[in-house]
Amino acid sequence: MTAPSNFVWDQAPVRVVFGAGKRAQVAAELDALGRGNVMVVTTSRSRARLDDLALGSRVVDVFDGAVQHVPEHVAKAASQRARAAGANVIVAYGGGSPIGLAKAIALEHDVVIAAVPTTYAGSEMTSIFGITTDGGKLTGRDPRVKPQLVVYDPQLTATMPVPLAMTSGFNSMAHAVEALYVENGDPITSTLAVQSITALGHALPAIAGDPRNADAHAEALYGAFLSAWTLDNASMGLHHKLCHVLGGSYNLPHAPTHTIILPHAIAYNEAGAPDAIARVAAALGVSNAASGLFELIAGVGAPTALKDIGMAEADLDDAADRAMQRSYANPTPLDRDKIRALLDDAYRGRPPGGKTSSVTPEGYQRSE
Ligand code: NAD
Repeated sequence: MTAPSNFVWDQAPVRVVFGAGKRAQVAAELDALGRGNVMVVTTSRSRARLDDLALGSRVVDVFDGAVQHVPEHVAKAASQRARAAGANVIVAYGGGSPIGLAKAIALEHDVVIAAVPTTYAGSEMTSIFGITTDGGKLTGRDPRVKPQLVVYDPQLTATMPVPLAMTSGFNSMAHAVEALYVENGDPITSTLAVQSITALGHALPAIAGDPRNADAHAEALYGAFLSAWTLDNASMGLHHKLCHVLGGSYNLPHAPTHTIILPHAIAYNEAGAPDAIARVAAALGVSNAASGLFELIAGVGAPTALKDIGMAEADLDDAADRAMQRSYANPTPLDRDKIRALLDDAYRGRPPGGKTSSVTPEGYQRSE
């Protein structure tokens, strides 16, 4: 290992409670936090299971209208409800969408957030927010939106259907991969990123093979927790930029888009960050990170082609132009033609960087 050079270590406090069945402790944890007026922000699907949290009379309102990408009108409606109910804590129960909505409320009101995630998306550990307005998606960082309490219960993520668990898991892995090669990385974040990739790379095929494997669910959620941590502690590069363009401009589904792009972004960055990409390969136990990950994704039946999740071939040129629009740090310099070629491979489901694959993807049906 190379000796670490300079870095800054600056962490906002967060209490993380991890373990099977720990959702039963959310109420006691909120009491310890000294916040008694709870507004729950969730989706109609998760609302049906809200009794699991046993929050009792602490709940002053439940808003179950969370949807992807936090539309501004939904954020406003939820904020008004939080004010009217006199909420001083928002319990975000569900995936990245309810957690994102809780963050939008925290930008408007003096509330803290307690998150109980049910996917691997990772928003629960970050100070990053996003709100979609008529003019596009506004994103930023603000310490007010970072949850102070996170309760991870693998029994909650175990209810994800396997296709959702796979794409959510690869979405999570993407945070850890990019944390390994960005400019502001640090040795602690890198160590956790490697652990995260190892855990997810081991657990996801185990879940695909046996969806009732409780140990695999716990390992995947642990990997997701670590990757969420890396997302908060490192800026991101080409992979996240491309996914932001594809999701924001063509409304492609978040987690499947990350899943498809990740092997291609790794191949692109092999030249600029060979050591980091070698660490990804070692964490996955493969000789080549990009093709090894592509085969892992195809092997668990997750999507490998943008054409299967709603991308139009006619938009590929526009997507390459948009990816070049704002300059951002990336280990391999941005090149419009190479990005266009990357998108072409990703669109068609070809292995990354022209590498051959021993796995033939069987095709993927969009389920949401
Ligand atoms: P999501 O919250 O929209 O959930 C996806 C689908 O899964 C929904 O239909 C939901 O009802 C269902 N679902 C959730 N948990 C389930 C479970 N346990 N069992 C069965 N179904 C379940 O999507 P997501 O992928 O969790 O999050 C994506 C959103 O999060 C995007 O808007 C993305 O931008 C945001 N995000 C933000 C950050 C951040 O730091 N701000 C980080 C990651 C993702």
